[in-house]
Amino acid sequence: MERKDIKSLYNKELEEFLVSLGEKPFRARQIYAWLHVKHAVSFEEMTDLSKQLKEKLTNACRITVLKQERMQRSKIDGTRKYLFALEDGNMVESVWMRYRHGNSVCVSSQAGCRMGCRFCASALGGLVRNLTAGEMLEQVYRIQEDTGERVSHVVVMGTGEPLDNYDNFLRFVRLLSDEKGMNISQRNITASTCGIVPGIRRLAEEGLQITLALSLHAPAQEKRLSLMPVAGKYGLQEVIEACRDYFASTGRRITFEYSLMGGINDSREDARQLARLIQGMNCHVNLIPVNPVDERDYAQPSPQQVSNFKNNLEKYGINVTIRREMGRDIDGACGQLRKRYLDREAGIL
Ligand code: SAH
Repeated sequence: MERKDIKSLYNKELEEFLVSLGEKPFRARQIYAWLHVKHAVSFEEMTDLSKQLKEKLTNACRITVLKQERMQRSKIDGTRKYLFALEDGNMVESVWMRYRHGNSVCVSSQAGCRMGCRFCASALGGLVRNLTAGEMLEQVYRIQEDTGERVSHVVVMGTGEPLDNYDNFLRFVRLLSDEKGMNISQRNITASTCGIVPGIRRLAEEGLQITLALSLHAPAQEKRLSLMPVAGKYGLQEVIEACRDYFASTGRRITFEYSLMGGINDSREDARQLARLIQGMNCHVNLIPVNPVDERDYAQPSPQQVSNFKNNLEKYGINVTIRREMGRDIDGACGQLRKRYLDREAGIL
């Protein structure tokens, strides 16, 4: 029998599981706190459990733990990029960033990704597998233990498409924000999607307070489709409509992410079309100068062009910020640390 992955269980489910093992339900509270507050990696550490119970648990279930394989620290801003090994040997990467408002972790939701965005390093190797909720939590827990500082914000913007791994992602959000666990406010959790419409619609009905970020990257269907294959399945108008409805049901302002690629989507006309597309929405645009990926030839516009694009949007009354680049000196772009590692293993680099 497969041993149960207890880090992915809600408190209630853990209780039921313990009862099924012939234990008292209150044991769940103790074990849950060991897992999600103290971030224990083994039953051995759980000093308030009897020897017999520890043995029983060791036989019936397992604790998902990620192993830190590599860590790179930016000399510029202290950003840390982690490469973690999952228990089956797959690798995922996560990033730790220190901001004025607190420490933020960027987590991966899948090993690899099948969305195929043209500018993204994570798309290059395709999808390997979904991560479990426990594996997503572990990225946050291991980083908090390694830095010794509380993590207050989480963004699901690492490798993978969270809405392509919906159930595990939802479980992750609920566990992460549980007051008996890590207790990260849902308002401090952001999930980024390439625009899977049924996922956005379903998420809107979950009663969550998280921020939804849509990777927009182009203001017109044809251009967006040339950058993001997912747009062939869910068109631009449809996805914008889903974002409007997300705001209507949750009251949470949408963030539109827009990676600026020189000569591709950074013209004055692009800004005008973008403004028209989202006019009147309660939203915010986050401009990200594209991170050049070796295998792709998209280039960053000059700082002047980036600031012109911002000014153009502001003229139309759009709320816009330029994302501060963090960790420039440490395998910058999304998925590159993992990719370099895999290439090295395969003898390509
Ligand atoms: N699958 C989700 C989340 C992962 S990517 C999504 O598509 O939103 C997180 C963000 O980084 C997305 O907005 C993505 O489009 C962007 N991104 C990916 N590669 C990039 C690159 N090379 N430069 C800048 N942004 C990139």
